Amino acid sequence: MQDEQIGGKRHQTIRTLLRLLGPLVLLVGVVFVIAGIASFFSSFGSHEPPSNFWCAIVGIPLIGIGGGICHYAFIGAVARYVVNETAPIAKDAVNYLGKGTQDGVTHVIQAIAEGAAAARRPDGAPILCRACKASNEAHAKFCNRCGTAL
Ligand SMILES: [Zn+2]
Repeated sequence: MQDEQIGGKRHQTIRTLLRLLGPLVLLVGVVFVIAGIASFFSSFGSHEPPSNFWCAIVGIPLIGIGGGICHYAFIGAVARYVVNETAPIAKDAVNYLGKGTQDGVTHVIQAIAEGAAAARRPDGAPILCRACKASNEAHAKFCNRCGTAL
């Protein structure tokens, strides 16, 4: 099962094979199509039917197959290339946005912090007794001097 993993020995062997086979099949297909088309046009002068036109009929699917093999053989390399090309740009864009919005974010966080502090303050503030005006702790239920319910 080790060989079946991506990047494993078997995978690399298949990839190398595809990278050789893909361009080869593609090239053979192109040669066949050119031979077929050349035969087609050269038959115009004479009254003979094109003898090698079948080459084009064979060549077109070969180009398709070769192209398909190339696609699968080089898809990883292309994907890596695209990532290497685009990742730094994406990073720069994020950094640029970060620099541009840093002040705004700082202001928002400061506003939240101030709002939170303001919301906390009444809780922490001492409670004055209505009867004797003594200062009591924020969470006290009764006055610590006269015992009146706060
Ligand atoms: Zn009191």
